[in-house]
Amino acid sequence: MKNPLVVLASIVACSITIPILISIVSYDGIEATPQNHKKTVISENVNKVINYQKVDKKSPIINVYNHKLGKTQQMDIEEYLCGVVAGEMSTEFNIEALKAQAVAARTFVMYKQKQGNSSKHKDAVVCTDYRHCQEYKSYEELKKKNGSEWMKNSYSKIQRAVKETKGNIITYDNEPILTLYFSTSSGKTENCEEVFSQSQPYLKSVDSPYDKNYSPKYVSTLKISNKDFVNTLKRSYGGIQISENNLSSQIKILETSDAGSVEKIKIGNKEIKGTDVRSILNLNSANFDIIFNDNYLDFIVKGYGHGVGMSQWGAEGMAEEGYKYYEILAHYYTGTQINDLY
Ligand SMILES: [Zn+2]
Repeated sequence: MKNPLVVLASIVACSITIPILISIVSYDGIEATPQNHKKTVISENVNKVINYQKVDKKSPIINVYNHKLGKTQQMDIEEYLCGVVAGEMSTEFNIEALKAQAVAARTFVMYKQKQGNSSKHKDAVVCTDYRHCQEYKSYEELKKKNGSEWMKNSYSKIQRAVKETKGNIITYDNEPILTLYFSTSSGKTENCEEVFSQSQPYLKSVDSPYDKNYSPKYVSTLKISNKDFVNTLKRSYGGIQISENNLSSQIKILETSDAGSVEKIKIGNKEIKGTDVRSILNLNSANFDIIFNDNYLDFIVKGYGHGVGMSQWGAEGMAEEGYKYYEILAHYYTGTQINDLY
């Protein structure tokens, strides 16, 4: 009969070595499971990265329409992406958040490529105007604005984020996804169809718990006199019937989204979309409450941006809490995978 101590020792040894062996087998260029999270608030939404195989090919050259110069430029996509990440995020952000941004930006280009060039720039896949495609800052622009020292110490961090995710894109059903992103959520992201006309299976409302603690733009307030409010509304809606007195009885929020944004609001005799109120009053988002005071209103606004897809400050919070870029992306883009194109 075997010594019970030997049996115990071999059980212990197996229970240590088998998980190690499994984790080595499933390691395929990228770690497959979340590790060492300080918090696990959103870990149930984090998918494993599967079927990830590192491909190593030369990166493609793309046509970019530079709206500031009024001309189309040819550039290496990875070089273009450095300019997008630099335009979209602070270099103070965690490297994993910068990597998530780089992959989202790369995927956006691949999505556009599948759609065909826009009528706004027929010979280019993307442009440098953030209102149409993605923000972009050229190397020269950044150097002029921030100086050589910044380029050496900070821009290199962006280059690293792009380089370390080279060729990575986000897919759903093996197709590149529409990677919408924005600054700060209200605590939850929005369903795409509640903000824009289209629905996407991967742009669903998810919790975004870290924005509150990390983003300086989480809450903002607009104070506006009853008089200015009424005049602003009358300028936008000619036939609106509304008076400065007793505004609280003339304004009612009718519908809100899953994430709490105003979908529809009745002001005077008009039903108005929350996103329209946002643009008329220049609010940070359509997620607002109104406090009625004697002769002025306070709009208490949560979040910054349209609220669909990845929250950049939420990504920064996740990265600071120990999540990797692919976990951040899997969280904000429901049911997606990371694929390596080149
Ligand atoms: Zn464009």
